[in-house]
Amino acid sequence: MSYGSFVAEIVREFLPEKQPEPEIYTLLGKVFAAFETRNARIVALMAAYQLMEHTGLQLSYARCAHCGKLLQGDAFFSEQAGGALCAEDKTADAVPYPAQLREFLTRIFAYTWQPDVSFMVTRDNLLTAEQILIGYLQRLLGHPLKSLVFIHQLV
Ligand SMILES: [Zn+2]
Repeated sequence: MSYGSFVAEIVREFLPEKQPEPEIYTLLGKVFAAFETRNARIVALMAAYQLMEHTGLQLSYARCAHCGKLLQGDAFFSEQAGGALCAEDKTADAVPYPAQLREFLTRIFAYTWQPDVSFMVTRDNLLTAEQILIGYLQRLLGHPLKSLVFIHQLV
């Protein structure tokens, strides 16, 4: 189960065992149950975004990373600046951050893993959310995620 190994790699790299959090074990239980019934790629994406909430390394997705304002409508995004940015705080390297992507990420963070709750995903949002996450994780690590090398060999 290669997407399972992706989730396991994130836990291993970013959530050291020194501080075991019961919340994380509860979350992982729900994630691995979801792998049984749901699209594994989407499960892995949601799991990774939710796990990063526990690391202290999470980028800002709902608020401007500079002024803290809750974002409305289309905004900007810069990994260097810490994530989402409002128009006033837009940096030179910032890229567009469409409202629909922000709303998609908000739904990921709010997702409670209820088996009977469906989760609609557009291909654009899925691909962009993956790019943002994986690019950031690999820059934090300084090397490619081993599980992704394996997943790409499968595709
Ligand atoms: Zn701002």
